[in-house]
Amino acid sequence: MTIGILKEIHDHRVVMLPEIVKTFVNMHVSVIVEQGAGEKAFAKDEEYKAVGATIATREEVYTQADILAKITPFTSEELRLLKPGQMIIAILNPLANKAYVEELMQRNVTAFGLDVVPRTTRAQAMDVLSSMATVAGYKAVLTAANTLSKFFPMFMTAAGTIKPSKVLILGAGVAGLQAIATSRKLGGVVEVFDVRAAVKEEVMSLGAKFVEVEGATDDSSAGGYAVEQTEAFKAKQAQAIHDSAVKSNVVICTAQIPGRPAPLLLKKETVEEMTPGSVIVDLASSTGGNCELTRDNETIVHKGVTIIGNSNFASELPTSASRMFGTNVLNFLKLIIDKEGKLNLNFEDDIVKGTCVTHGGQVMSERVKSFLH
Ligand code: NAD
Repeated sequence: MTIGILKEIHDHRVVMLPEIVKTFVNMHVSVIVEQGAGEKAFAKDEEYKAVGATIATREEVYTQADILAKITPFTSEELRLLKPGQMIIAILNPLANKAYVEELMQRNVTAFGLDVVPRTTRAQAMDVLSSMATVAGYKAVLTAANTLSKFFPMFMTAAGTIKPSKVLILGAGVAGLQAIATSRKLGGVVEVFDVRAAVKEEVMSLGAKFVEVEGATDDSSAGGYAVEQTEAFKAKQAQAIHDSAVKSNVVICTAQIPGRPAPLLLKKETVEEMTPGSVIVDLASSTGGNCELTRDNETIVHKGVTIIGNSNFASELPTSASRMFGTNVLNFLKLIIDKEGKLNLNFEDDIVKGTCVTHGGQVMSERVKSFLH
């Protein structure tokens, strides 16, 4: 069994750092690494070699590996390089792109999508969305603090007292909770909105205020995710968010609904009433953003308010993000590689089946299937 590690094109992370490669080598798995794959995450080719990997060209990795691993989705061009029977593992966004899933089926690829790992307790150690959301929530707050025109914490100095910054966090999932923790560590005063009442206690335990809006649709069958809300709820929530946002110095947007555009929570009129010098960081920008003015991968200034649209903060913390991602991949691959280093695809295992987007020309994951219909 040979695992191939590919270099990311527009991302600073690498799917596995040398420390993870070492574990695979100890499991009798060969690892072949594309030249310079770890460079931007500060992992040198020599370090991979030192733990037993082979360094090769991109073409050689595609030719020799049984499982090809990367972080970002394989492009159509990359899929064309695959040989029959090869496997791929990456973030694949199957819930956002039907045509892509069809292409995987047509090419007869065995494709594992780390972004559809089931959200069960056993699968937590394989959940790259959680790991990357942790990085994003942290980095979003640091970026906001760095851009903001005032201090985060309260200061009592001979030059007077400075009030702490007010932070509004939209969505208290993994990224939102990390954003609360980081904002609190910096001394911010934090208010939080989410449609899932289950997060209230967690929000409060991190020292933030949970703003409740009555009438949310909270669907326990959605696997821990949020669902679309009614128009009546949206109107009530919009007013409450407006009232909180205009008093805030920082807004961190993290609200998402899998397979759908991000909910629009922050209107243009609200931004225009915010204090100039304030900052909005929108982590949902790749799916449309929570703020009406957000532009994906751009920073704009609207009437003195800076709006940063960035859904890929994980790439800006490549060492920690790669370390977490690699650990998640290792934990997943241990389910399909046995102790002798041989492939053991057991589709009776709910995690293996749930993560497998396509195999033998068919969609395996029930969740992906239900999104296709
Ligand atoms: P996500 O990225 O899909 O969404 C972020 C947050 O936005 C969620 O908390 C969601 O409720 C909220 N949101 C959606 N629409 C909203 C709206 N209109 N207004 C306000 N908030 C809105 O979510 P996530 O961070 O990936 O995970 C959500 C939850 O899933 C976690 O908090 C956790 O409880 C659970 N989870 C479980 C596992 C596991 O068991 N393996 C792993 C990860 C997460």
